Amino acid sequence: MYRPCPSHVPSKTRLRIKMAVDGSSDIQRVRDATDLVALIGEHVALRPKGREHVGVCPFHDDHSPSMAVVTHKGNAFYKCHACGAGGDVFDFVQNYHKMDFAEALRFLADRAGITLTPLSKRAAHDSESHGPSRSDLREAAGRAAAFYQRVLRHPDQGQLGRRILEDRAIGDEAAEAFMLGLAPDKWDGLLEVIQKNKLSIDLFVQAGLLKPRRNDDGHYDTFRNRIIFPICNEVGQPIAFGARIINPEDEPKYLNSPETPIFHKSRTLYGLHLAKRSIIDSGTAIVTEGYTDVIACHQAGLKNVVATLGTALTREHAQILGKFCHTVVLLFDGDDAGQRAADRGIEVFFREPIDVKVCTLPDNLDPDDLLRQEDGAERFNQAIAGAQDAIRYKLRRFDRALKDQTGLSARQRTLETFLRELHTLGLDSVSGVRRHLIFDQLADLMGVSAREIENAMPRTPVHSHAPSETAELTGRTTSEEEDGSPAPLPSAPTNLSRARRQAEHDLLALLIFDPTLGRHLIQLENDGPCRLTDLVTEEQFADPAARLVAGEVFERVESDQVFSVQELLAALDHPSARELAAALYFRGESHMDGKTTITPAELYQEAGRALLRAIEREAYHAEMDEKRRTPDSASNPEVLQQLLDLRKKQGHMAAAIGSGLRS
Ligand SMILES: [Zn+2]
Repeated sequence: MYRPCPSHVPSKTRLRIKMAVDGSSDIQRVRDATDLVALIGEHVALRPKGREHVGVCPFHDDHSPSMAVVTHKGNAFYKCHACGAGGDVFDFVQNYHKMDFAEALRFLADRAGITLTPLSKRAAHDSESHGPSRSDLREAAGRAAAFYQRVLRHPDQGQLGRRILEDRAIGDEAAEAFMLGLAPDKWDGLLEVIQKNKLSIDLFVQAGLLKPRRNDDGHYDTFRNRIIFPICNEVGQPIAFGARIINPEDEPKYLNSPETPIFHKSRTLYGLHLAKRSIIDSGTAIVTEGYTDVIACHQAGLKNVVATLGTALTREHAQILGKFCHTVVLLFDGDDAGQRAADRGIEVFFREPIDVKVCTLPDNLDPDDLLRQEDGAERFNQAIAGAQDAIRYKLRRFDRALKDQTGLSARQRTLETFLRELHTLGLDSVSGVRRHLIFDQLADLMGVSAREIENAMPRTPVHSHAPSETAELTGRTTSEEEDGSPAPLPSAPTNLSRARRQAEHDLLALLIFDPTLGRHLIQLENDGPCRLTDLVTEEQFADPAARLVAGEVFERVESDQVFSVQELLAALDHPSARELAAALYFRGESHMDGKTTITPAELYQEAGRALLRAIEREAYHAEMDEKRRTPDSASNPEVLQQLLDLRKKQGHMAAAIGSGLRS
């Protein structure tokens, strides 16, 4: 459980500070000069909440803002109350950028414009590990990038390179921002610099910048006579290179650095360091295929654009982008590429809580070509605005097939084929509210009922994708309790959503921890304030164990009794209900540990409203399912409109519930 305390745990960083330096050290200067909210805000969308800031934790798979940044209690610190990550500016940089302490110190000093006192010795651990350290590799990449940039700027050597950039309409400012460079047309351009500066040849081999000669024992430059696109990490340090040919006869057209300890293609997005802020601000990331596309977009003022590096969008990419935004638009030229991208996008969409859309540009143009046209930016923006979500995009192809089919069984077969494809792309792994939304959307798109879709889904052994939260809380499953004595609880409805279960549990947790909360009235949007027990009855609880607990809790709340958790446990007959009640007591305690400025009454009211919304939403679902079953529902515009409204409404709701109590 999270207890706010400015001097919480003596982190390794702090110990090191104490051992290594005295008094008003560089470290203290850097710390004082760094605004933790601004620093974290560069990587995570933070919003103010009372005197603190909260945001989605970048250190675990966080779906609700679990991280708090506290600046009003002496030394600023951050803390995730879900995964426990926490610390000061140095901890954040070390953990977020995977830097060691010395690197984090240098990085923050650079950022704050502080010159560090030269250290007499390098950090001891650099020499301990096998092979070059990550910071050595970064240093090598940084030196190489600087060398290539110098060559590009050189009056003679850089001439051809500069002309090519000019032809591609890449201006000086963009060339500077993206650190573009030129590898000279010789075998030992970079090698000479390395030798002259007595740098480690082996280090540059490890960094993929030099290669050993086959027969001889010398080395040669990996990149020769190419335009160099440094690939940077999230903080803008070069970690690898993309290199494009100058001579059209050279092969291959693009050459990339090999994977190294600091460079993994599947986890790297070109231009992210320059695009991040804009992605956070716009809530959308546009993913293209090429370096020059990214540069062209940024030049045109569209800064939320990044590129994958010769791979399709991976889950890791989606996870990285998911920390900054909720929508990813995959941008492709041509329908075939778009179709393949849509498939990948759907796979990612099924597995990560992020919306994936697919956009193809008009006339099969790539972004670079389009943006160079007179009304390019406008047409580009139109295309982005018209991006279709990946499933809809994929359905278009099937749609044509559907139209050609006459007769019920032919349509049925097409539907089944489409669903089988979605199934192989991972539709099975989606659960809860998202699954409902997707089925709803499919039903809507295909003009059939959600039930039909459910029935047409290929049956595979269902690996329990929606684990019971009771089991999560108590570490036991209901079936384990069937040892003869207590009657097994009726099983929860199969469509019980996680959000609904959570809403039920959250509310009970607060009431069990503090029964006096039940006296507070709940203000509804379109109704006067009411006591919760007048609005919800225990029968409306869908989770069977929660229903039993609610029965006892509501009875006491209605009669204004204050009860202890022990009394409640004594009153509950069923062991599952007792376990749930005990677990919920602790959950209530952690909800009210005073880490936010929200009062317990506000928490309670919000929990009540969240439950009402969840109940209302599911009732609405049932109603719409009913509507869809009526004949001709698919062609009835009124029903379609209602379905659309429902979907829209649910989008908001899912967001509201998701961000509900956890913050
Ligand atoms: Zn966390």
